[in-house]
Amino acid sequence: MRYVSTRGNAPVLDFENVTLAGLASDGGLYVPESWPSLSKAEIADLAGLSYVETALRVCRPFVGDALTEDELRDLLTQAYGSFSHAAVTPLKQLDERQWLLELFHGPTLAFKDVALQLLGLLFERFLSNRSEHLTVVGATSGDTGSAAIQALAGRAKVDIFMLHPLGRVSDVQRRQMTTVMAPNVHNIAVEGNFDDAQALVKAMFNDASFASRFRLSAVNSINWARLMAQVVYYFYAAVRLGAPERPVAFSVPTGNFGDVFAGYVAAKMGLPVAKLMVATNVNDILHRALSTGDYSCGTVQPTAAPSMDIQVSSNFERLLFDLHDRDGAKLAGVMKGFEATKSMTLGNERAKAELFESYRVDEDAMALALRWACANANELIDPHTAIGLAAARKVDLPADVPVVTLATAHPAKFPDAVERASGMRPSMPARCAGLFDREERYATLPAELGAVEAYIADRAVAA
Ligand SMILES: *Cc1c(COP(=O)(O)O)cnc(C)c1O
Repeated sequence: MRYVSTRGNAPVLDFENVTLAGLASDGGLYVPESWPSLSKAEIADLAGLSYVETALRVCRPFVGDALTEDELRDLLTQAYGSFSHAAVTPLKQLDERQWLLELFHGPTLAFKDVALQLLGLLFERFLSNRSEHLTVVGATSGDTGSAAIQALAGRAKVDIFMLHPLGRVSDVQRRQMTTVMAPNVHNIAVEGNFDDAQALVKAMFNDASFASRFRLSAVNSINWARLMAQVVYYFYAAVRLGAPERPVAFSVPTGNFGDVFAGYVAAKMGLPVAKLMVATNVNDILHRALSTGDYSCGTVQPTAAPSMDIQVSSNFERLLFDLHDRDGAKLAGVMKGFEATKSMTLGNERAKAELFESYRVDEDAMALALRWACANANELIDPHTAIGLAAARKVDLPADVPVVTLATAHPAKFPDAVERASGMRPSMPARCAGLFDREERYATLPAELGAVEAYIADRAVAA
């Protein structure tokens, strides 16, 4: 399998190199040159397979010959062995038609573990053949950072520097990062907000003299291998609910458009997906884009679902690439325009996105869905999941189509918001007990490029 940039002007890469790369050199994102497909018979054959065996069959066409089948199976077994549920991503039935797909049984209680546990192992495996040392730099509003740190802690030939906005991530999120004492883990609290932290990371990648001293890499959802890992659970869930004979709809709490794009990939590969509900909170750029064509930035409003508080959804560019008939040169022009004006209008190409439906869920509707799950199914869910469920309950499809909401975080990750909405305080799963007793370690730095680069340069290993 070969990977091309959405802006058509970067080297074509194989799976190994696309995994180690971040953004393409032309500013675009990497996507497979063409979508592989599974036949109806191959999808039917997934019935009854374990999560790891399902993952093997879904990932194989993307990995190509970068790994043998046995090597890939070993990595998948290791990655998903760290999950606390034998089914890895179990389904739970809420009523006759509504289901939850629990994606939070990994080490940091959010769905990002599903992709990052595998990505950490892929990094280590691909670096073992090389003389290079990788320096992962990222900014996090909470969930990505903790999942990336858990995935990379102690791995050979890689250091991770994770920037979070000082005082603006939850205590659970911060402690999941700062109590990891592995020597290759470096936490930096930036005196600023998430946008400041993100801007610093971007500036480092764009600082040619700094970037050339280290092999910088990214773990945010622009990384293709992360999306690949997320395609798996769409197949796993749909097959359990009757695919390929019966179509299934999914509702996805959406921020950067990574998770829901993985559902689109599953559909492209042949999975009968009846609908993908793009559930947003009041930060609704995606809802406006999909429902009216207005893709323009607002200002971010903080909500009880902070992992969805975004201005621009980076992975949306991957969908735009398909909507523009995979014409990289054309999309490069469109994206240049967007970067200059922070606004774009989707025209006729929007018709090609009919698989998606979007829904904007405000704080009241979120709380209502959270209470509905408590009252009707005895399930305590987190605010992100509640946004997905609120949208799922609005879906306009025949009653025999099951609707699966992706449960993206464990309620104990956002205990205050859950308690505010439901009156019940979720308890921390036993495997995370002790988080509040452990020592923390992080540096606090001003939101200045020079200060952050100097800190990293002192500790990173040169390329
Ligand atoms: C990251 C995250 C999301 C949003 O996922 P995207 O892939 O960015 O759309 C939703 N819920 C939770 C809990 C998350 O951590």
